Amino acid sequence: MQLDGETSGQTSRIQITEIRVKLTDDPRNKLKAYCSVTIDDAFVVRDLKIIEGSKGPFVAMPSRKLADHCARCGHKNHMRASFCNQCGGGLDPDRAPRDDRGRARLHADLAHPINSQTRIELHKAVVRAYYEEVEAMSRAGANYRPKSFDDFDHLSDMIDVDYLEELERRQEERERRRREGSAPAERTGGAHTEGAS
Ligand SMILES: [Zn+2]
Repeated sequence: MQLDGETSGQTSRIQITEIRVKLTDDPRNKLKAYCSVTIDDAFVVRDLKIIEGSKGPFVAMPSRKLADHCARCGHKNHMRASFCNQCGGGLDPDRAPRDDRGRARLHADLAHPINSQTRIELHKAVVRAYYEEVEAMSRAGANYRPKSFDDFDHLSDMIDVDYLEELERRQEERERRRREGSAPAERTGGAHTEGAS
């Protein structure tokens, strides 16, 4: 599908040429699916996730946990760690960077659209592909065979609670901004700036 439109001065010109969806097995899991997206038949982004939010499914971009260096030994620890993994020194578990509402940012997106038009189009396309896969599964019943992603099949279906909460907050923040009629460009370096207004 060609994502080519002009809305509020922003233009999306990427063409998503393939979306692959791998549903998770456990219906209680808020992580509903993994996706990979091919752009312009030339570039693949993997590990997008479909999360079941309070207002329906939304898309999370591939991300990593933030970490920082221990002041004593320099070892990198994740932001919520109370002790250094290397030297055992005490760490402040509340030291994560905060958004403008004072809430901890523990994850940063690794690949993401940099304008809202592209984000909206991408998310629409991915959610549509997700619904199509769910439908294909219910049509096929016991005969459903999930697509194979090779090494993708071995990704963990676990998603930590901190991350889920952070994603839901970001999603609510976007909806709030949309309601208020302001749709600022997606900022780069998600961890420290995205979500700030
Ligand atoms: Zn240390």
